[in-house]
Amino acid sequence: MATTAEWLPYGPVAYDRDLELTADACVIGTGAGGAVFASELAEGGKSVVMLEKGGFFRAEDFSQREADAMADFNGRRGLDSTKDNSMFLNYAEAVGGCTVHYWGDSFRTPEDRLERWRTQNGIDWMTPEELNPHWDVIEKELGIHIAGPELFNENNRLVKAGCEKLGIDGHAVPTARVDCIACGWTQYGCAYNRKSSQLITTIPRISKAGGRIYSDAQAARIVVENGRAVAVEGDLIDRKTHVAHARIRVDASVIVIAGGGIGGAELLLRNFPDEPVGRRFYVNPHYFVWADMGREIDNQTGIPCAYAVHEFRQVKRNARREYESGGYIMLSNHQSPGVFSVMLAESGPAHTERMKKYRHLGSLMSVIDEDNPGRLYIDRNGIRRTSFHVSGIDQYKAIDYLKNASRIFLAAGAREVWIPDVYGTIVRNEQDIRSKITLRSVEPNAQFCGGSHFLGTAPMGTDTADTFAKPTGESHRTAHLYVCDGSSLPGSISVDPSLTIMGVSRHIAAGLHERFGRSGA
Ligand SMILES: Cc1cc2nc3c(=O)[nH]c(=O)nc-3n(C[C@H](O)[C@H](O)[C@H](O)COP(=O)(O)OP(=O)(O)OC[C@H]3O[C@@H](n4cnc5c(N)ncnc54)[C@H](O)[C@@H]3O)c2cc1C
Repeated sequence: MATTAEWLPYGPVAYDRDLELTADACVIGTGAGGAVFASELAEGGKSVVMLEKGGFFRAEDFSQREADAMADFNGRRGLDSTKDNSMFLNYAEAVGGCTVHYWGDSFRTPEDRLERWRTQNGIDWMTPEELNPHWDVIEKELGIHIAGPELFNENNRLVKAGCEKLGIDGHAVPTARVDCIACGWTQYGCAYNRKSSQLITTIPRISKAGGRIYSDAQAARIVVENGRAVAVEGDLIDRKTHVAHARIRVDASVIVIAGGGIGGAELLLRNFPDEPVGRRFYVNPHYFVWADMGREIDNQTGIPCAYAVHEFRQVKRNARREYESGGYIMLSNHQSPGVFSVMLAESGPAHTERMKKYRHLGSLMSVIDEDNPGRLYIDRNGIRRTSFHVSGIDQYKAIDYLKNASRIFLAAGAREVWIPDVYGTIVRNEQDIRSKITLRSVEPNAQFCGGSHFLGTAPMGTDTADTFAKPTGESHRTAHLYVCDGSSLPGSISVDPSLTIMGVSRHIAAGLHERFGRSGA
């Protein structure tokens, strides 16, 4: 019998029939934005129903095997990519959203970005004064602290050493984990409940406060009456077969879209095809370098990123305003063997030789603050598609990153640094860096490039023609419909996004709560 689970504080209750529910708020998506939003409302005494199209997995379900995690909770089994396969899109579909596999790096939004969103998007409340109190609370709840030496593996130590030798600005990262044992499998779900994902922080609190969380429940239709969102309809999906086995309808005073920069935008486009959704699709392109340290450093254990490089976050231009450098941060990185293996250009015995070096390799990854976003759309066959090309100035940022990442590892003692492009580029000294790392390495499909920070697809702002929602998070055109996740931010943040999404979500929820309080609606 096909069933869908509702998760109560004491465990799951399975359903095999159509459901009709009512609530003050129906929140679609249980990730960084949705879970923080729902916890604010539920703990404030509002009735909340959450719909999550992914499954409900807990510590005991995380097997620390790549294949299991990919199949269980990675969107499209970890194989999603843009239309021409030039950008891999990595995201989770599970209760807790992407925070189930996020690394826990937790940066507040840089002040220059808040200023941009105030001036360009008219979101006046985007100030440190407004957001700091929310971040103070969230940081405490998630146990966010600066990574100490116990969380540094050898790769993190090498990146730090390389930066210090070159006088490059880097820092231990603020990380969301408590008593972490640094087992190395954070990206595949924390099997020890030490990483502070939404799964183990806000979700149990929402449930305890009476919120009802339905996993395997996919929202499909937003019901609008007289210009106001009044209900959500969708399917209950059988976890084993992935087939819809029943329907769900939730009538609610407020509908909150928090399905993430991809899932939330897709839902909006299917319901409001003429609205400004998906016109800009930010991903923060991730390029990777691999440094052969000539000895075993076992980068797979520890946490992926205890140390990040901030020196190059802002673009520097010359007197003629031409691009000179920067436009990215770098994160210490590790990837599991399967993911690493597909990054390599070699095949056959040459590939085997490279794989044998797996435990010798240090790595850095870019978070490029792109100027040229991609697009998310529904094609004429009704399929959700994305397109993204690292282009223009962003290609120069990518090259600058590859060069500086190589310099850091060479300064830290690497024998050679592999640029995982189709040309098998290897650099051993500054001369190689200057001559071998060129535009051809960052052409679409010339090397593995990934995205995991999906932002800006249904942005807030005051320009009604260009943005989906008002600065309050409510749709410009449909009353009582809110958007509150990565999609609602105006664009790239220039650092990892989760703490921004959570802080903004908490702020918007607090505003809505006030309104609820006033109108009782
Ligand atoms: C491997 C990895 C590591 C990362 N590490 C970091 C990090 O260290 N620091 C950081 O700041 N960020 C990190 N990120 C990014 C961060 O996790 C995300 O930006 C953030 O979680 C996005 O929050 P969100 O609320 O927009 O969406 P999500 O957290 O993605 O949640 C959206 C949820 O909505 C569900 N959903 C979508 N559509 C529907 C629908 N129609 N019906 C029902 N449910 C739906 C999805 O299944 C999903 O569970 C990482 C991401 C990845 C992939």
